[in-house]
Amino acid sequence: SGTQAGPDRRGILLVVAGPSGVGKGALIRELLRRHPQVQWSVSCTTRAPRPGEEDGVDYHFVSEAEFARMCEQGELLEWALVYGCDRYGTPRGPVEQALEAGRDIVLEIDYQGARSVRAQLPEAVMVFVAPPSATDLRERLAGRNTESDGAIRRRMRSAAVEFSHMGMFEYVLVNDELERACNDLEAIYLAERMRSRRCG
Ligand code: ADP
Ligand code: 5GP
Repeated sequence: SGTQAGPDRRGILLVVAGPSGVGKGALIRELLRRHPQVQWSVSCTTRAPRPGEEDGVDYHFVSEAEFARMCEQGELLEWALVYGCDRYGTPRGPVEQALEAGRDIVLEIDYQGARSVRAQLPEAVMVFVAPPSATDLRERLAGRNTESDGAIRRRMRSAAVEFSHMGMFEYVLVNDELERACNDLEAIYLAERMRSRRCG
């Protein structure tokens, strides 16, 4: 309305996608460390927690039934079946509240989710993280030591599909050297903050 007190801009919605193991998590962690005011969107997932992952922090770990209920009640902004086995989705409330309140928020989601978010919120800033090579990607996935051989093969196959959707992202960031790539992600964020207006 223009008469109410409130932030003079909506928050920035940063969407980060790219194949599993490319380093999205590492890049986002560093961005959040450098800019603690940026909020992290905690996704829901039906996959089991990895050692060290905390419920409500890394993900909301939910049952298939609970996930289905959230979908039906419209509680998810987007959701997708990722790697053909587990469901992942973004709770709608925290995203809408952050943007409304002028807080910036970052989503780490797959290309299907990214497409759905962009359709609903065209102002989203879309970033695709690419590996220097397929060999690097496989080594990082294996080196993380969190997935079985079968899961690694599934994720490598999905990487090709993820790549084929790179064109819908405004930014493509190659994660070769982590420190440099962190600076690139930060540069995108800082540039977006300086935009005079935000449109789809
Ligand atoms: P994602 O979130 O995309 O699945 P992670 O952030 O978990 O990927 O990274 C996968 C693995 O690769 C982790 O062990 C991480 O420390 C490592 N990694 C991330 N970026 C780089 C990089 N630039 N060079 C080498 N290893 C990296
Ligand atoms: P991981 O099992 O390695 O934590 O995540 C696997 C992939 O799931 C990530 O690379 C990311 O692309 C995707 N993902 C995580 N959260 C969400 C979400 O809320 N929605 C969608 N669509 N994908 C997600």
